[in-house]
Amino acid sequence: MMTKTIESASSGYCSFCGETHSLEQGKAREYCLELMKTLEEKGRIDFHIPEQHMDPRLSLDYLLGEARGQMFGVLECLDMDGQPVILKAFSGQYNGVWSVEGWAPPLLDTGKFEFLVCDVDKQIKALGSRINGLSEGAERRELTRQRKKLSQNLMKEIHALYNVHNFRSEVRSLFEFFANGVPTGAGDCCAPKLLNAAVKQKLLPKSLAEFFWGRANRSGTRQQGRFCTPCSEKCQPILGFMLCGIKR
Ligand SMILES: [Zn+2]
Ligand SMILES: [Zn+2]
Repeated sequence: MMTKTIESASSGYCSFCGETHSLEQGKAREYCLELMKTLEEKGRIDFHIPEQHMDPRLSLDYLLGEARGQMFGVLECLDMDGQPVILKAFSGQYNGVWSVEGWAPPLLDTGKFEFLVCDVDKQIKALGSRINGLSEGAERRELTRQRKKLSQNLMKEIHALYNVHNFRSEVRSLFEFFANGVPTGAGDCCAPKLLNAAVKQKLLPKSLAEFFWGRANRSGTRQQGRFCTPCSEKCQPILGFMLCGIKR
C-alpha cells in the first residue's frame, strides 16, 4: 500500500483506518512566526501574566544556557462555532516546570508525577550514598542492580500516567504504541500536547507547526527559528492514532 509522505506535515500511520493521517503546517507556521516575535519581545514564556509576577524560571535565558534550546509548537484550530483558536506548547518541562498558563498541559497528571518522583528519588539517593561508601564487591554490585531496577520501574510508572487521546474519543496508554519499550520523553513533544489539548477542548485542528528556539548546534540541524516536523522516534508512532477522527 502506498503511504503518502507530505513534507512539512505532521503525520502517522493509523492502524484503525489503515491509512496515514496528517496535518499540514499551513497557517500554524504564520502563528509560529508571531510567537517567535512575542518570545523575542518578552524574553520569557509566562507573558500571559503581568511582569511584576513573572517567574524567573520561565525566562528565555534558560534556553541560552544549560538547556541549549527547546521545541515550541502551534496548533491552529476551530471551535464548535467555527471560530479560530490557537493553541501553543513547549516540549517537555520548561526549566523543571510542567504547567504554564496559556500553554498546552502535559499528557500526565503532574501532581501524581511529583508524588511518584519525590518518593522514589529519595530511595535512589539513599542507595547511591550507600554504594559510594562501598568498595568493589558483591554487595556493591547488588545495590547497583537494585538502584537500576528502581529507576527502570519509576520510568514505567511515570509512563503509565500518560493518557493519549484521539478525536474518536479513544484513550490509550503509551505502552500500546511502543512494543520495544517507551522511549524517554515520549508524549512530551509539542504535537502530542497540542492534539491532546484540542481533544479536551473539543476543537477541530487545522494545521500544526513546530520550531526550535535556543542556541544553535554545530551541525546546524538546530537553529533558532527553524521549523521541524514531529520527531520519528517518539511522535510518529503515536500521531497516526492521535490524528484519527478529525472531521474536515
Ligand atoms: Zn517528538
Ligand atoms: Zn484513523
